Amino acid sequence: MKHPHKVPYLVCSDDEGNLFEDESLQVAARVGNSVIALKPTDFIELPFGSDMFHLPGRIPLGIDPVTGEVKQSEMGYASAAFVAPAHTQTHLAAWVTEPGAPTLPLYAYTALGWLDDKFYTTAVRVDPDRRQDCDQFNQNAVERSAKREVKANKNNRLLAHIAHCATVYICPAARNYFLNRWEAPLPTSPTCNSQCLGCISYQPKEHPITSTQNRITFVPTPEEIAEIATGHFAIAPNPIVSFGQGCEGEPILQWKTIKESIILMRQATTKGVINLNSNASLPDAVDELCKAGLDSLRVSMNSAREELYNAYYKPRNYTFSDVKESMRVARRNGIWVSINYFVFPGVTDTEAEFEALCNLIADCKINMIQWRNFNIDPEWFYENVKVPHGGEAMGVRALMDRIREKFPHIYHGYFNPGKEIINDYLPRVNTLDC
Ligand code: SF4
Repeated sequence: MKHPHKVPYLVCSDDEGNLFEDESLQVAARVGNSVIALKPTDFIELPFGSDMFHLPGRIPLGIDPVTGEVKQSEMGYASAAFVAPAHTQTHLAAWVTEPGAPTLPLYAYTALGWLDDKFYTTAVRVDPDRRQDCDQFNQNAVERSAKREVKANKNNRLLAHIAHCATVYICPAARNYFLNRWEAPLPTSPTCNSQCLGCISYQPKEHPITSTQNRITFVPTPEEIAEIATGHFAIAPNPIVSFGQGCEGEPILQWKTIKESIILMRQATTKGVINLNSNASLPDAVDELCKAGLDSLRVSMNSAREELYNAYYKPRNYTFSDVKESMRVARRNGIWVSINYFVFPGVTDTEAEFEALCNLIADCKINMIQWRNFNIDPEWFYENVKVPHGGEAMGVRALMDRIREKFPHIYHGYFNPGKEIINDYLPRVNTLDC
């Protein structure tokens, strides 16, 4: 990991979205509700495939290198990085919002700096897997393949839906499906039993932002699902198929259909990993799916603290205890369990959250943490979610190190792992008394 020799300059933007550095100020960062100074070792070069944002109505904050004080830049608007997949943010960009500024859309806003002709950001690569690296994709090849497949399989509505995801939403999983490799998506559910503030597939009219994707409008048949999955298993290297995508609601609500499709898949082949990305709200359904042949479960959460989970997810007809019970059920069935953990620097890396995470790992015997970025306007989050005080932030890297030290069997990453990793790591948890 290459760090700069000093803290980079603050990056600002103008009305047209042009970016430029303010050489009078160093990058400052937001953690939780505070603004802090950074060290050179907090930065990495902006990874290839990252995006950069111009943030209208927001005055950038930096650090005066002489006095060490936090100051407002006089050079325009704030900017931020949206780091490439496989990277986890460690600090947010810092700004002051002007009255009337629009709420930011559902992305993560990571600190951005400039030094020696290079952009820098505050993140860490957490997964060596290159399945979503920008340089892995040829969009013309994706579009040709999608067109060919849809023409050849006119009766499969799910295939047409995934083609839309690959060509309109530029979804990496859908694009990989049409490139016949790795993890493929299997969306199934038009509805959900959570009401996450930052849901990317549904935003109520009264919210100041819109969702970035539309939910699937039908429940595919088990045959439509299995046809796609078995075709993928037959030709893809390291194949995984995943229920639970950004273009749907909560797949566990369709568990009966999913169960039938898993039975069909496993009648056809033992190849590949069948994975469910879920809120894991129905433990009995998880049990049924495991018995049908599910290989892995990934449970999304913004926090291991029930209070903060409830404040963000607003569960309908289920509780955080059900989520934990689903993980226990999955582990008792011998399958792989990950958490899809949304990292909000200054909230996730507090002592209270660390303790809750440790308890959850020990209680539910999970196998993996997928360190994801919390895609939300940080101010909108604080306005709408009652965030319990968790103590001082230790830093996201320190949090990861402490988890590694305390639970050496846990696999750390960003993506659902394939069979090789599962077979290697799965037995480890059972030999440890955590
Ligand atoms: S669980 Fe997923 S689909 Fe349901 S509200 Fe939350 S983000 Fe949206």
